[in-house]
Amino acid sequence: MSTPLFPALESPSGQVALTFGDRRLTYAELARAADTLAAGIADAGRVAVWAAPTLETAVAVVAALRAGVAAVPLNPRSGAKELEHILTDSAPSLVLAAPGDELPSALGDLVRVDVEVRPAAAVPGPAAEPGPGDPALIVYTSGTTGPPKGAVLPRRAIATTLDALADAWRWTGGDVLVHGLPLFHVHGLVLGVLGPLRRGGALRHLGKFSTEGVARELETGATMLFGVPTMYHRVAQVLDGEPELAKALGRARLLVSGSAALPVHDHERITAATGRRVVERYGMTETLMNTSVRADGEPRAGTVGVPLPGVELRLVEEDGSPIDGWDGESVGEIQVRGPHLFSGYLNRPDATEAAFTADGWFRTGDMAVREADGYVRIVGRKATDLIKSGGYKIGAGEIENALLEHPGVREAAVTGEPDADLGERIVAWVVAEDPGSPPSERELADHVAGRLAPHKRPRVVRHLAALPRNDMGKVMKRALPEPNRGTDA
Ligand code: ATP
Ligand code: MG
Repeated sequence: MSTPLFPALESPSGQVALTFGDRRLTYAELARAADTLAAGIADAGRVAVWAAPTLETAVAVVAALRAGVAAVPLNPRSGAKELEHILTDSAPSLVLAAPGDELPSALGDLVRVDVEVRPAAAVPGPAAEPGPGDPALIVYTSGTTGPPKGAVLPRRAIATTLDALADAWRWTGGDVLVHGLPLFHVHGLVLGVLGPLRRGGALRHLGKFSTEGVARELETGATMLFGVPTMYHRVAQVLDGEPELAKALGRARLLVSGSAALPVHDHERITAATGRRVVERYGMTETLMNTSVRADGEPRAGTVGVPLPGVELRLVEEDGSPIDGWDGESVGEIQVRGPHLFSGYLNRPDATEAAFTADGWFRTGDMAVREADGYVRIVGRKATDLIKSGGYKIGAGEIENALLEHPGVREAAVTGEPDADLGERIVAWVVAEDPGSPPSERELADHVAGRLAPHKRPRVVRHLAALPRNDMGKVMKRALPEPNRGTDA
């Protein structure tokens, strides 16, 4: 990589780069803070970052990238067991934290380095940029299907994916992004913090997501919004009562959703109230971004668009043979290849080897179909979302979407469980809008059968007070009550 990861930090200006609440840093201030810290950690080998949603986290990660030291973002909300797993696995030599952060005892053995966003004395930055294959970040997967795995992300992958998104979204230094995502996954950190910085644009982080914050920032100059489906669900719920929010969303240049499937129902409610469609993109910790609807493309509810520039994408049958033709019906596993991929799972050569085909395609574990115009429609995860019932392969996602269209259903997750006749029977886990009078099994089965093919109707409906979700709002099907969990991946 001959160009630096952040060209705007080379001769930094007085333009505001980062805003967290009422604290902000210009590019010049960010360069000074990051380079001073970079000089202090240059020999560290590998560092953990206490990734609270703060200015310090952004400075710490930029400093590590400038120093060529691999950074491991830690989720400040994770429990002691998960922290221990990550710390033992990644073995950082020190932890970077904001001066006020209280660190749990699981981090007790690590040397703590406080991040100063306005250091008293400035130290010049590193003379040379690290190489494109050098590890930049070690990000742990969301743990949706099993214990989180550390994905080693080289600088090349980060640069590639951010530039591909810039092309797809016409993302420039003039853009101001607003988001309230956590900073320990690739969505909030790589796309949400490093994205604006690579473009020379600005990020305004909400600290904590709120629809009021989104409306305020979009009213005062923010041009793009990144969110996960639970955030757009919240937006869809309050839109009718908050005309300012609808107006603000209508002004945004781009509304982007990712990390999990955006329910069609929420997408349609947002479009009805704002006249705007949400752009969906599909990615993983291991692959960064694979597909997106393009800024000049047509967002269609339930689809994640087309492969990004530089991404090779194919669908393969269970026996490994690629599916030819885009018929919108043949379901296959998404496999991807390209410079945007991770270099392997940390300490897991077995898992790394199993994740790739002999000729270098990464097996995503996600199942999809391709429409005639090349748009990818994700059907669900192979491990938890594909139900084999009565000789059919049925994706949980479309049944979940159909259930969510029922006025009595607030949340829905669909799984398969063993059935003597069908192989597997379809089970719907439902959170009722009114727990006092939940829709009946019969009513929901008829509702689904009226929208989809009859064999896709749920045979069993189980009501829950809430679905188990992780901190990205993803439904953790493996945490559904026994014995109906999905298989571990
Ligand atoms: P783990 O790998 O630890 O089980 P995870 O797969 O949820 O957790 P991530 O890497 O954060 O961890 O998430 C990637 C997955 O999220 C993808 O494989 C896919 O299943 C899902 N995903 C991401 N974006 C979308 C999207 N737009 N639509 C549907 N699914 C998506
Ligand atoms: Mg995964």
